[in-house]
Amino acid sequence: MRISFHGAVEAVTGSCHLLEFNDKKVLLDCGQFQGSNREERMNFDEFDFVPSEIDYLLLSHCHIDHCGRIPLLVKRGFKGDIICTKPTYDLCKIMLLDSAHIHESEAEWENRKGKRAGKKTVEPLYTQEDADYCMKYFKPKLYGQVVDIDDDFSVRFLDAGHVLGSAIIEMWISEDINEEALKIVFSGDLGIENKPILNDPTYIEDADYAIIEATYGNRLHENTESRMDELIDIILKTTRRGGNVVIPSFAVGRTQEIIYELNKYYDFPHKDLDELMKIPVYIDSPLASKATEIFKLNSQVFDEETRELLISGNNPLYFENLNFVQSALESKALNEDKTSKIIISASGMCEAGRIKHHLKHNLWRPESSIVFVGYQAQNTLGRRIRDGEKLVKIFGEEINVSSEVYDLEGFSGHADRNGLLKWLGAFKKKPKKLFIVHGEEDAKTDFAKEVESSLSIECIIPRDGEIYELERNKLSVSEIIKNISSPPRAMQPAEAEKIESLLREIDSVKELFNNALNLTEGVLNESVNVEEYNRINNRLIELENAVMNLTILAGK
Ligand SMILES: [Zn+2]
Ligand SMILES: [Zn+2]
Repeated sequence: MRISFHGAVEAVTGSCHLLEFNDKKVLLDCGQFQGSNREERMNFDEFDFVPSEIDYLLLSHCHIDHCGRIPLLVKRGFKGDIICTKPTYDLCKIMLLDSAHIHESEAEWENRKGKRAGKKTVEPLYTQEDADYCMKYFKPKLYGQVVDIDDDFSVRFLDAGHVLGSAIIEMWISEDINEEALKIVFSGDLGIENKPILNDPTYIEDADYAIIEATYGNRLHENTESRMDELIDIILKTTRRGGNVVIPSFAVGRTQEIIYELNKYYDFPHKDLDELMKIPVYIDSPLASKATEIFKLNSQVFDEETRELLISGNNPLYFENLNFVQSALESKALNEDKTSKIIISASGMCEAGRIKHHLKHNLWRPESSIVFVGYQAQNTLGRRIRDGEKLVKIFGEEINVSSEVYDLEGFSGHADRNGLLKWLGAFKKKPKKLFIVHGEEDAKTDFAKEVESSLSIECIIPRDGEIYELERNKLSVSEIIKNISSPPRAMQPAEAEKIESLLREIDSVKELFNNALNLTEGVLNESVNVEEYNRINNRLIELENAVMNLTILAGK
């Protein structure tokens, strides 16, 4: 059988891997690329495979970097089953609609701008209708249930402890009925032990081959134990000097975790409790509010502590000074009201959504604090602020960063280096080869070195489009057998800009051209001489050729 890699290989986002065996094609995740304009544009590229030929899509969890291109996959012809857990299905319904809404608004904004510049209209990556339609292919399953998809193929989803519904996927594949099946394990995104609400990541007994994420493959989360104390200190410090605490947070997962932790904190005596209880907390993300409702509906997969709280009548996802903001008007009002407050808003990497407004209103205020509680992908606004940039652009306006900026990595939903090593170390039968994905280059190479030296598992860091042949009985078989005829590379920002400026010049030369001609009679205007006409005509041909060459070069 073969495996090839089509996303989450250059960096973290866009998770998408393809298994091919017998006459089947199975996709693991179909995520969206997130980060810079370049990554965003990669989403519009053709898939490296034919969507209508994919039989099954196994989905690890609901985060957009894992499921965000599913509506597009369906739009381009996929008709197979999408298998995931029930909470993932519930959460995808709202996540994909929200993502479609973002794509629609972005296209609308581009078109409004483009119309004034005479540009062609652009289409959104997919619409809310597409997002709604793709849900009919979802076939939710239970955790722990062995699903016999076919005689030669079974799967099982086990709790990954990363977000509600997140799964580690075990797959058994038989290419020869006389032989034992080959077992492949895909970690999805791995969570952290002892996290609120969620179960711990499941340990796996054995695998022939495994694919593991390495978001924090070379880091240790420092403040896991003290994260709440640190957050409370920041809250008190900030509100005492009259500022706001702004927390960019993933709408699904991290937001509910912070609500849970605050609720728990308020339940115990603390010298500043009265003061804390008076500070209003606003969840300003319609998606987060909806997700919180879905969490409540899926309490069967909560960890024991949370279930006990629920049984005792304490709703862990609610406390007195918690407010869910719905309308955009209410959201704006938060910035007009001068009371110090905590604002938790999405998107978590500050690329879209209401968080951008709150950053615009708080980044320049030395009394406010911005607190990061999750991974910030390269080139995102969140990453730039976290890395200490002093001037950032939001909605075209330059904003001075004067607020305090904190990064509480202890809230991360991803296992750190030790967590990943512990999970791998628990295999009783170690995988013959480990594919490392979903990480920045350093994180993957450092982690590979660590795994090879401490666990003696051979590691491979696959590249985009590479295919590996996996066999049952040989020990050293995973070699690149060929590169897929190299997929078109994404257009570089400089090339795109150059093309845009050439197109603008073409438009203005065309206007000269039309002015020179008497259009009704198809002859030159008297005021234009033939030489002038030829010069304009040649310039037009030259420009059109330049656009064509650049476009071919960019592989479009
Ligand atoms: Zn995730
Ligand atoms: Zn991920």
